[in-house]
Amino acid sequence: MKNHVSKTALVLGAGGFIGSHLVARLKKEGFWVRGVDLKNPDFSRSQADEFVMGDLRDPNICRQAVDQSFDEVYQLAADMGGAGFIFSGDNDADIMHNSALINLNILEVCQKIKVKRIFYSSSACMYPEHNQLDPDNPKTSEDSAYPANPDSEYGWEKLFSERLYLAFHRNFGLQVRVARFHNIFGPEGTWEGGREKAPAAMCRKVAEASDGDAIEMWGDGEQTRSFLYIDECLEGVLKLMRSNWTGPVNIGSEEMVTINELARMVMEVAGKKLSIDHIDGPLGVRGRNSDNRLILEKLGWQPTRPLIEGLKRTYSWVEEQVEQAVQTSV
Ligand code: NAD
Repeated sequence: MKNHVSKTALVLGAGGFIGSHLVARLKKEGFWVRGVDLKNPDFSRSQADEFVMGDLRDPNICRQAVDQSFDEVYQLAADMGGAGFIFSGDNDADIMHNSALINLNILEVCQKIKVKRIFYSSSACMYPEHNQLDPDNPKTSEDSAYPANPDSEYGWEKLFSERLYLAFHRNFGLQVRVARFHNIFGPEGTWEGGREKAPAAMCRKVAEASDGDAIEMWGDGEQTRSFLYIDECLEGVLKLMRSNWTGPVNIGSEEMVTINELARMVMEVAGKKLSIDHIDGPLGVRGRNSDNRLILEKLGWQPTRPLIEGLKRTYSWVEEQVEQAVQTSV
């Protein structure tokens, strides 16, 4: 039963990586939380007060999910995965169709019900490919988004949906907050099965290897990225949500590393000496780093913890998953 004294939050995509952590964070803050997803969280029980299992491509489910004027709505649901899922080309139609439908449905009902404010998770994948060809000098300032030229249909859908949220803000006065996430990672993220991202994949490969083995890596490993630990991501999300500013704004880390460096850091954390076997695979842009000047200026916030700290926590969690998987297979 909803406690009428609490503030209320709705988390769409609450069975996913960021959504399940966000639910836990909102519960700690005393919110009454409803989560919605196609599935429960993969690695722990949802802490939501109510969990609606449903498909947000269906307008009826959206009406059921948004049946009251929530104080805070977080829209994180998307058909989503790492490079192997986004850049292979095989999932393009699903990625665009499914995620766009969710956003179209949800905005319509949020506008009708007059929710107080809604957060939308866009992605750094919406930035133009031509600004991310130099691994040492990628450009992702918020104002560099146009002329648009994302390198994936995932990025194009994010760009379309960002604009959709901003249009609802302009035309209907809906309070929206738009963030562009840059590679969020941490425990309880997908670590196998094809939708995992680089940090979790690297942790799994290192955890499964023994000293002297080689681990496989897509490409030459000289492509650059930055990675933000989940707790810091949530800090940024809540700061933006509770500010008076719409965005769009980057939420990411400025600690740029090559994927080879990322692998070496994970090996160092694991205390293993491994070699790297570079193989062909889907890659994405050559260089990417978060540009945090705008978030610092507008919200007085930026992440503070080094990558290695988050990798230590993530590695020990992935190592546990690998050990459990080995035990259940024997
Ligand atoms: P995730 O895949 O773990 O979570 C997304 C959730 O949405 C999943 O649980 C999935 O079941 C749910 N979902 C998908 N289709 C649905 C539908 N039709 N109805 C109901 N639920 C549905 O991904 P995540 O890493 O937690 O990302 C959350 C959001 O942040 C996504 O919008 C993603 O695009 C964005 N984002 C994430 C990152 C990152 O590094 N994790 C980077 C940029 C942007």
